[in-house]
Amino acid sequence: MSTSNYILDFLGIKDKNIKFIKFSNNMRKNNVIYKVIDAKLSYTPNICPICGNMDKNAIIKHGNKISNIKLLPLNGDPTILKLRKQRFFCKECSHTFTAKTNIVEKNCFISNRVKLHITENLTMKISQKDIARLNYVSSNTVSRSLEANYKAFRVNKSYLPETLCFDEFKSTKDAKGSMSFIFCNGDRKNFNIMDIVENRTLPYLTKYFRKFTCKARANVKYICIDIYKPYMSLIKDVFPNAQIVLDKFHIVNLIGRALLKTRIEIMKNFYFLY
Ligand SMILES: [Zn+2]
Repeated sequence: MSTSNYILDFLGIKDKNIKFIKFSNNMRKNNVIYKVIDAKLSYTPNICPICGNMDKNAIIKHGNKISNIKLLPLNGDPTILKLRKQRFFCKECSHTFTAKTNIVEKNCFISNRVKLHITENLTMKISQKDIARLNYVSSNTVSRSLEANYKAFRVNKSYLPETLCFDEFKSTKDAKGSMSFIFCNGDRKNFNIMDIVENRTLPYLTKYFRKFTCKARANVKYICIDIYKPYMSLIKDVFPNAQIVLDKFHIVNLIGRALLKTRIEIMKNFYFLY
């Protein structure tokens, strides 16, 4: 591995089109002194993103655009990647465009690794203000990151699949119920967790599922559950077209336990005869 690649690997920069140039002079920004790493982003584009022209000879290099991208602190020091992005000119449509990289989103100057780090910090008992301070970003950036993650997990209340699977598990100590409720899309091709509800009691779940539209609830045809009576009441109450499917694992488990209990009872009688 070349020194350039080694340094980029050390910084967690995986884009092979980025080449390390040098460690530059420190930069002062908003009363913070940043370490600066100079690097270059360039490649031969296969297509013009504006007109779709695929003739490589018609796309020529056309200067650079410098972006100062915030990286994770290096050895505790705030660090900036001064990235010279290649500009291109398309002879076909006479437009220019800039080289793209997966280390940062378009028109953003905070690297995706910093954003990921902020997301990790948001799972800890640290204030948003401290997260902003630790990552050398503004409080607004932390708020936006929180909102983006929340949106990604927000459940669409106007759709439910034809098949659902219900189950429960012991979650965190601060959950409102002793057991939390989890439900999944039961379709084999689209199997995924749809949501987690912190309480599996009947009133709580009824209130939760009533927030889904009538059309969404009517779309559900099968619900796979274990033998938990409140689920049966819930399904009859809020899913008008759903049939209950008892999970065979729980039935086999129940039969197994019943057989074991019966065997012990019978054997105890034999034992006392001797
Ligand atoms: Zn073009």
